[in-house]
Amino acid sequence: MTYMKNIAILGSTGSIGVNTLDVIRALDGRYRVVALAADSNIKLLAEQSRRFRPSVVSIGSQTRLIEARRAVPSKTKVLFGPDGLLEIVKRPDIDMVVFAISGTACLAPLVSAITHKKEVALANKESLVSAGGILMPLARRHGVTIIPIDSEHSAIFQCLHGARARPSRILLTASGGPLRSIPKTKFDRLSRDFILRHPKWSMGKKISVDSATMMNKGLEIIEACHLFNVNEKMIDVVIHPEAVMHSMVEFVDGSVLGEMSNPDMRLPIQYALTYPERQPSAVKSVDFYRLRHLSFERPDNRKFPCLGLARQAMRSGGVSPAILNAADEESVRQYLDGRIRFSKIPEIIGKVLSRQKRCLCKAPALADIFKAEAWAKEEARVLCYR
Ligand code: NAD
Ligand code: MG
Repeated sequence: MTYMKNIAILGSTGSIGVNTLDVIRALDGRYRVVALAADSNIKLLAEQSRRFRPSVVSIGSQTRLIEARRAVPSKTKVLFGPDGLLEIVKRPDIDMVVFAISGTACLAPLVSAITHKKEVALANKESLVSAGGILMPLARRHGVTIIPIDSEHSAIFQCLHGARARPSRILLTASGGPLRSIPKTKFDRLSRDFILRHPKWSMGKKISVDSATMMNKGLEIIEACHLFNVNEKMIDVVIHPEAVMHSMVEFVDGSVLGEMSNPDMRLPIQYALTYPERQPSAVKSVDFYRLRHLSFERPDNRKFPCLGLARQAMRSGGVSPAILNAADEESVRQYLDGRIRFSKIPEIIGKVLSRQKRCLCKAPALADIFKAEAWAKEEARVLCYR
């Protein structure tokens, strides 16, 4: 690969964003950062701008525009809000957009990036959960490959690369999160710091809470259904605490292919950037002599009801996954703000799902999804204050 790829990173100050810049730095001159976007960490965004010299940056809201303009190099244009993200993704000087914003804010820019035929490296799973039924056909129509960054989906994507047969089963691995060996009765006594401390991955707050409730795996089931065009019944969740096997695919003849590496997000990020090629990386090789064994367990669906809720939403179809996702986003936010107990999160999501009117439209448009998300967030908010 000799040409230079021009990249935009939406969510550059978060866990995935910072790792993406690390990967770009290590790939040494092959990738040019043209645009960065973040919410409110102006200090880090300015540092990144001084280091990578993007043509444009965008911040979450207009309130800090003057501060941001002062902080970034004078030649860097500063945009803000949802329109700032939309302006970035359609720029003709951008080849690839890395979607590393957490939550539902990615959806509109993702649609725009696809229609502008940008290469898409997707960390944000929430957009696929809410609107996979719209995004995947749209990407096919525009000839855009959505390259997953989520480690499990990157593993599956790698296993299926060049495969002449479709998988008969997907084995989605999960480390089990911080609560795997803690009884459910103790969940509400654990501190927020404990909930946020994942045993294997260091991640943003929203996904860390999702890992503790296992809604992260629930969302990933839906993400995999859309990315790989498989039915929810074809996906088994396998608890694998060592987090070395990142997921597996089984074919009709019973052969199982998996992708293994030390748990380090720089690897799936780099694969998304260099796909379909591979480049050397800073990730350490797996030491199988030290590791000695890998273990696999069945998930405890009663202890972690979010897994069942996600499957139920996927089976219901229509706007149900968007409702699940939005109710999760709102209740996690309320938990992080200290307003609700941990065990309320699945309870609220279950209640919001059960209150949704029977969805007659099986193939919702984007406007229906935005409406359903707004409704679900409001319902969840009301339940949090009860
Ligand atoms: P994070 O909270 O660490 O970072 C989020 C980033 O998005 C920050 O830069 C923040 O400033 C920015 N942001 C938030 N709202 C914004 C807005 N409205 N406009 C512009 N920027 C905004 O989150 P993360 O852990 O990096 O996760 C990002 C996404 O990647 C999530 O969807 C998550 O599910 C997915 N993901 C993360 C990991 C991981 O290891 N962290 C692994 C797999 C998938
Ligand atoms: Mg994952």
